[in-house]
Amino acid sequence: MEHRGFVYTGHPARVLFGFGTTDRLPEEVARLGASRALILSTPHQEGQAAHLASLLGSASAGIFAEAVMHTPVDVSERATECASKLSADVIVSVGGGSTTGLGKAIALRTDLPQIVLPTTYAGSEMTPILGETQNGIKTTQTTARVLPEVVIYDVDQTMELPVGLSGTSGINAIAHAVEALYARDGNPVISALALEAVKALATSLPKIAQDPRDRDARFDALYGAWLCGMCLGAVGMSLHHKLCHTLGGSFDLPHSETHTVILPHALAYNAAAIPEVMASLTTVLGQDPARALQDLARTIHAPTGLSEIGMPEDGLDRATELALKNSYWNPRPLQPEAIRGLLQRAFEGALPL
Ligand code: NAD
Repeated sequence: MEHRGFVYTGHPARVLFGFGTTDRLPEEVARLGASRALILSTPHQEGQAAHLASLLGSASAGIFAEAVMHTPVDVSERATECASKLSADVIVSVGGGSTTGLGKAIALRTDLPQIVLPTTYAGSEMTPILGETQNGIKTTQTTARVLPEVVIYDVDQTMELPVGLSGTSGINAIAHAVEALYARDGNPVISALALEAVKALATSLPKIAQDPRDRDARFDALYGAWLCGMCLGAVGMSLHHKLCHTLGGSFDLPHSETHTVILPHALAYNAAAIPEVMASLTTVLGQDPARALQDLARTIHAPTGLSEIGMPEDGLDRATELALKNSYWNPRPLQPEAIRGLLQRAFEGALPL
């Protein structure tokens, strides 16, 4: 049984999960020995940041509400300067992957501890990964310095997540779990979490699409998203994430929508090379998991074609080239013509093959 050995690396984080857990922020700040929190958000979520500031009272040093997509270095440098001017001793991020990314970028530069209150299902809060953009190029690094110390999952913070973003962000999360199941450095602990996560999201997302205020479904989706984030943080990703990174970075396609469109096709591409994974996925998605994922997108009225989200058809050759430029591991070898075919089908919103 020697071949069944594995390596599992756990990332230390304190996690609070439930409804109304935001109220515990002041005690979590104090627990870290901190007393001057810099609160981060996007301009759109400044109201949520202001609520945290009032909750913290004198332990709030200020708000920086300028987080934007793709973590541009110039914004991170301004935010770091702001943290230093305010003598902040902890970063509190409330928002999705963009805001969490800004918090991580400050932590990288200052080593300040982070408390994250996630409001989407992207999962960045559970990973030691930071993608930063400078001069239009996004570079990703993995370092324990950016791993948040505390994550407060408050289902109430997700109740206003718009219905469209709820669905695509949820499928973005599922993508982390699916690729974790066939990761080269995968292990049974992460695989168990991944299946639990796919199940929680696949059952809750259609309910949220019907009724965004369904509290039980919101609870299950955030729970699934947490586990998906653990998957993303623990093992390496393959073809799906590479394609999405390329499409997002070089064609400026929206993040979670791109994941939603590509996932069924990436899974179908790998299917023949991963029969055991496909069998385990049928237990949570039903027969033909790749098609089930595309059906899920349709059920929740999410896009299923790259053509719907701004991809130019004459960019598909270049996208194929870019996605194959640096070699990386994938369960099925990367075959240029087959990848080009995958992207064509994804462009058209055709069935995954
Ligand atoms: P996002 O953070 O860009 O948010 C999208 C928009 O939705 C923003 O305007 C935001 O303010 C708004 N929003 C978020 N939550 C809301 C809520 N509850 N109510 C109302 N509005 C809300 O989107 P995202 O999909 O969470 O994050 C995408 C980014 O995160 C990408 O840049 C991606 O690369 C990165 N990411 C990084 C990792 C990692 O491990 N480093 C993991 C996943 C995603």
